[in-house]
Amino acid sequence: MEQAAAGHAVVMGGGVAGLLAARVLAEHDLDVRVLDRDELGHRHEDGARRGVPQGRHIHALLPRGRQILEELFPGLTAQLVDAGAPRGDLLGDTRVQLSGHRFARADAGLSTVSVSRPFLESVVRARVRELPNVTFAPACDVLGLTTTPDRERVTGVRVLRRADSSAEEVLEAAVVVDAMGRGSRTPRWLGELGYDPPPETEVAGDVGYATRHYQLAPDVLGGDWGTLQGPTPTCLRGGALARIDGDRWIVTLFGLLGDHPPAEPEGFLDFADSLTFPDLAQAIGAGEPLDEPVRMRFPASVRRRYEQLRRFPHGLLPLGDGVCSLNPIYGQGMTVAALQALELRAHLGQQTAPDPHRWLRRVAQIVDPAWDMVVGGDLALPGVHGPRTPKVRALGAYIGRLHAAAATDPELAVAFARVMALVDPPTTLLRPRVAARVLLGGRRAISLDPSRASRARGDQPSAAGGRATPRRNEEVRR
Ligand SMILES: Cc1cc2nc3c(=O)[nH]c(=O)nc-3n(C[C@H](O)[C@H](O)[C@H](O)COP(=O)(O)OP(=O)(O)OC[C@H]3O[C@@H](n4cnc5c(N)ncnc54)[C@H](O)[C@@H]3O)c2cc1C
Repeated sequence: MEQAAAGHAVVMGGGVAGLLAARVLAEHDLDVRVLDRDELGHRHEDGARRGVPQGRHIHALLPRGRQILEELFPGLTAQLVDAGAPRGDLLGDTRVQLSGHRFARADAGLSTVSVSRPFLESVVRARVRELPNVTFAPACDVLGLTTTPDRERVTGVRVLRRADSSAEEVLEAAVVVDAMGRGSRTPRWLGELGYDPPPETEVAGDVGYATRHYQLAPDVLGGDWGTLQGPTPTCLRGGALARIDGDRWIVTLFGLLGDHPPAEPEGFLDFADSLTFPDLAQAIGAGEPLDEPVRMRFPASVRRRYEQLRRFPHGLLPLGDGVCSLNPIYGQGMTVAALQALELRAHLGQQTAPDPHRWLRRVAQIVDPAWDMVVGGDLALPGVHGPRTPKVRALGAYIGRLHAAAATDPELAVAFARVMALVDPPTTLLRPRVAARVLLGGRRAISLDPSRASRARGDQPSAAGGRATPRRNEEVRR
């Protein structure tokens, strides 16, 4: 079945990046088709679907991501909360423990919701389905791209529907978005069309995840709805526990450089017990598991440098994990995809036809801060392979000191949380005022900014949250 390209857009992949791209494309005079190899009628209560195996694991929606989703789908936050998702502040309602330091508590103005990935995706997909010019083609494998005879322009996609006796079809489109995720075959397809594949940069953290759901008392964390702890140079393990939709808690444990959590229940608990701070293990130790632990391995953060290519076909716009797949312990992937969706809106608003090179440069600029943060964090851990430039080393040392100072300085804790949430750019952490506080070790030598101080709840964990005692890590200092 051949269809006219003009007036049609195709989104390859119906994950978070694809859904958000479809929402933005639908603002234009286009028939938008979202293609996915999965049956998208999957009930979110049944867990993650096959094409998104990472959906079985904790998926933090960073505050910037929530803001963008709210902008694209007005009322979405309330919809999620009404359906049972806890809402709160990233720092005020969650225990953040990085580099072996528990951050001082403060309301950071970083509101977000705590949801499972399948639930979030199903609600967003339902909102996209309501758009009159968007249709979904589930169980539809994209096999390749079609182009003009000179191969300068992508004119559509070749697909095969997963139905008996189906034959290959061509769907023509003026705009083709690649939202096929980390496993995107666009680099291979470019090679087949005579283009160079994108140069790739990898930083290999060799991360292992294990996740389990629990029934826990609502006040198991003293009123907080989550706890997060990152690895340190001497403890490559971490984990996160969060209350989510469905009146459940999700716990994800992770370890780097092969030190992976096991799926066997007793080993899972032992791994939790080995973390630097005890609150996660204490919470789940008293709880009732709802399922068996499941595992996933994430070998490396991968960045495809499409922006460095001299030749790239018109009509093709890559985004999401297909461009950059980030170590998930930083929880940035969906928010980076959301930032790219906003950029797509701006890009399409300014152009009569999308300009691939301009698009790829902008995508790279959006990815840069997240990539720098993730790679900087990973390379601060000995044993992680990747380019340790002098800049990476200096920033790693600085961020380590900032984390230490943030244990007693709420202003620093807020400043870092806002960057981590992708709300503020990383450069805010280098401002003289912040740098002075870091260098002074977070001592209150400089008075708090009154606007922040008025929001601060104090520089210690809330009484309700209790004070966790760091252990098994001699470098942990307060
Ligand atoms: C273990 C883990 C934990 C994570 N935790 C977080 C977190 O806490 N917070 C966060 O923001 N992000 C997290 N992420 C990242 C997040 O999952 C992604 O960044 C986000 O889903 C955006 O990805 P995407 O839409 O580009 O790709 P995906 O979500 O991977 O979607 C790709 C889609 O394309 C479809 N597809 C692929 N190939 C084809 C084809 N040939 N034909 C048709 N369809 C195809 C797939 O079926 C799938 O639906 C995590 C990732 C992992 C691995």
